[in-house]
Amino acid sequence: MDTVQKTNLLGLSQDGLEQFLAARAEKPFRARQIMQWIYQREVDDFDEMTDLSKSLRATLKADAEIISPEVQVRHDAKDGCVKWLFKSGAGQAVETVFIPEADRGTLCISSQVGCALDCSFCATGAQGFNRNLTSAEIIGQVRHAIRELPRRDNGESAISNVVLMGMGEPLANYRSVVPVLELLVSDWSYGMSRRRVTVSTSGIVPHINKLSDDCNVALAVSLHAPNDHLRDQIVPINKLHPIATLLDACWQYAAKRSNRFITFEYVMLRGVNDSLAHANQLAELLKNRPAKVNLIPFNPFPGTEFKRSSVETIRAFQVRLRDRGLVATTRKTRGEDIDAACGQLAGKVSDRVKNRLGDKRVGPRSIDEKTSDKKETRVSSI
Ligand code: SAH
Ligand code: SF4
Repeated sequence: MDTVQKTNLLGLSQDGLEQFLAARAEKPFRARQIMQWIYQREVDDFDEMTDLSKSLRATLKADAEIISPEVQVRHDAKDGCVKWLFKSGAGQAVETVFIPEADRGTLCISSQVGCALDCSFCATGAQGFNRNLTSAEIIGQVRHAIRELPRRDNGESAISNVVLMGMGEPLANYRSVVPVLELLVSDWSYGMSRRRVTVSTSGIVPHINKLSDDCNVALAVSLHAPNDHLRDQIVPINKLHPIATLLDACWQYAAKRSNRFITFEYVMLRGVNDSLAHANQLAELLKNRPAKVNLIPFNPFPGTEFKRSSVETIRAFQVRLRDRGLVATTRKTRGEDIDAACGQLAGKVSDRVKNRLGDKRVGPRSIDEKTSDKKETRVSSI
């Protein structure tokens, strides 16, 4: 009986692959060849890797495998968005969304099953944390989407941009996420520009600092509130890494990339963070910095008490930011008919979300800008 544990080559960085090969007395350049086969030629079978020696192919067949995450279901929205649910074990699933636009195609991928950070307006946070995805499960989402989506008229891949804005906090799964970023930008795999790969984080400061050295891709930061008192309540990681510390890390990150802009995401929650006073405070925080603000209309999910700010409020907020000299845009909500919009990704657990919500989670009625919230959160373990 074969009891040898095979290594899944999907998701190994070039370094990881070179180490795997070195342990088998193979030269490092073989890693580049194998990466091209896996990611550029989309081959799963070592026998098809015809520029490898017969003996290496035999070794790979004995010791390695290429295992992709399994798709549970695909949904196609009327506006061209596509959502896949990938099986992630124990009856759970993670979600991946493709968003086509005239000049680009963005793939939004997940990094964890659930999320421990418990932001009060987020469906993924509401389900709690289950586990980290492996690098194979993360890059596998990209590989699968590239395989299924038709190429553009000019022959290019449908996917021009990848954003880690699906389920989970990518910087809380740092070890698996960095090899994925390397594969996205490496010439031997997807060869994407660093500007077209974006990590979105709610603000795990030590890992922002580390990422600027390890793989300096574009950074989006989920700010959502212009002062610590409010942010403590809706983005609990703020109690560990408050706004001033977070922004310092952001400016250092930007400086390492020749002051390329950091995007600040700001979800528009009616009556919570959407007043002109909040806009003024936000403008004050970000003025004269390499920052742009992306306002996200809140997307409701079953059981939430939050409401989306009105179109007029969002417009007025955006105008105020622009009047104060900031670059500010409002995100279009896409894929609504398949629950593919920001913050609605919850795998298969929407029924559980309904059950869990209520008194435990912070809703707009319990947010008081004047009284301090001393509630303990799970963030201290991150
Ligand atoms: N954990 C990371 C990335 C995943 S969330 C992060 O928090 O940045 C991607 C974006 O969707 C974040 O800006 C997040 O705050 C936002 N978001 C979460 N729930 C939302 C909701 N219900 N409506 C709109 N945006 C939401
Ligand atoms: Fe986690 Fe991001 Fe949702 Fe917060 S917004 S709970 S960090 S996935």
